[in-house]
Amino acid sequence: MFDDAIVGAGIVGLAHAYELAKRGRRVVVLERSPRAVGASIRNFGMLWPIGRPAGESRELALESLAIWRDVLQSTGIWFEKSGSLHAARSDDEARVLKEFAEQANQDSFACEWLDPASVVARSPRVRLEGLIGGLFSPNEICVDPRRVVAELPLKLARDFEVAFVFGAEVVEVDPPRVRTANGDEYRAKNVIICSGSDIGRTFPNAFAEIGLVPCKLQMMRTAPIAEPLGPMLAAGLTLKHYPGFAACPSLAHLIQRFEREFPRHVELGIHVLVSQTPEGELTIGDSHEYGPAIEPFDKTEIDDLILSYLNLFFDSSDLKIASRWHGVYLKHPSADYAIARPAEGVILVNGVGGAGMTLSFGIAARTANEILGIKAAHTHAHTIANAEFPASRHAEHAENANAEFPASRHAEHADKSATEPVFQRNDP
Ligand SMILES: Cc1cc2nc3c(=O)[nH]c(=O)nc-3n(C[C@H](O)[C@H](O)[C@H](O)COP(=O)(O)OP(=O)(O)OC[C@H]3O[C@@H](n4cnc5c(N)ncnc54)[C@H](O)[C@@H]3O)c2cc1C
Repeated sequence: MFDDAIVGAGIVGLAHAYELAKRGRRVVVLERSPRAVGASIRNFGMLWPIGRPAGESRELALESLAIWRDVLQSTGIWFEKSGSLHAARSDDEARVLKEFAEQANQDSFACEWLDPASVVARSPRVRLEGLIGGLFSPNEICVDPRRVVAELPLKLARDFEVAFVFGAEVVEVDPPRVRTANGDEYRAKNVIICSGSDIGRTFPNAFAEIGLVPCKLQMMRTAPIAEPLGPMLAAGLTLKHYPGFAACPSLAHLIQRFEREFPRHVELGIHVLVSQTPEGELTIGDSHEYGPAIEPFDKTEIDDLILSYLNLFFDSSDLKIASRWHGVYLKHPSADYAIARPAEGVILVNGVGGAGMTLSFGIAARTANEILGIKAAHTHAHTIANAEFPASRHAEHAENANAEFPASRHAEHADKSATEPVFQRNDP
């Protein structure tokens, strides 16, 4: 009998496995594919608090990043504290970025306006001609999503004895019973469903009630380039895309210009971001096509629009596109993410949209706290409680919380002071 069964080995499932196992719980992760191949391996690997609006949402992102850092440092999985750079090529873009910087610095989210020469010093491929300046933020972290999703299960199994079962499609959840398509049965007190864009067969009504919107994104990766990218890159169109900039007074005016000058980009939800893998490849994207009818076919028009916009601010003349793909996520229309409790002992975590890498560990810490009865979690989530957790169970977990954290299993991490501060920070 496990304490917790997690459905899905994408980043949301892995983060939940980590947060629960680090508290001493016996965890099994059931993943339908031989290896996870959903949104979590298809993204930029941008841990991107700058995209979140100030307040609770950014706090959740920063909490999440603190846990990410602990995880990455303690496991040795590759990451780079590259920060981010938004290049401005017009006065209206610069105005929005400066408004953002002023407010962000007041909110202790340090970032810095750079003149054109300083932008190019940090990011040599940014085009100097026509550049007005750029916003550098040291807060963002780059990971290689494919590495994280491949390596983290091995580390969780080794360090925390998390059991992973790949090729196990969950078709029925009725705690403590969890049944897979091939008839195997697992037993767990709680089941956390982190099934990404697949609403699955288990609780379709709960998904329908949350009202998640699917979104398809097209992406590309280049052959390696010799030089380092520097900070992860963004430019003007990104200011329209991320809610982090929504409070800037000049944004509405800028968006009107984009609608006039880049109507197709706006229509297809295109903005351009660039990150770099440790091998030197550039990951470039993306587009946003919303709605239930996700086409399997990618549009060359979208790739061309992405690359032509990239070439406006970045010297991409010698780049060779080595691969193309698309990813799909589910997004909640207004909240950072969605939580549903469709049956006793079942928690459904979804709707993280385009910030799932960034927010996953912060969300998972809240779920783990909820399960352990540590505090009322999941603020800033859209929550549906069809079956409330009985109070008695919360009390039982709260009493047992420390006893369930066996020192021996965590000695290695405690030495590196990796897990303990996180656990305490999330305590009431
Ligand atoms: C192109 C793209 C770029 C992005 N860029 C970024 C970025 O740079 N930064 C950022 O913060 N976010 C980014 N995101 C968002 C982020 O990738 C997602 O929010 C996040 O990966 C979602 O993780 P997940 O675990 O919920 O889903 P997934 O990664 O899709 O994992 C869900 C898993 O559940 C499994 N599963 C489903 N049903 C079952 C079942 N019945 N039984 C067993 N297993 C099941 C699936 O096989 C899958 O492996 C991007 C997304 C995309 C698509």
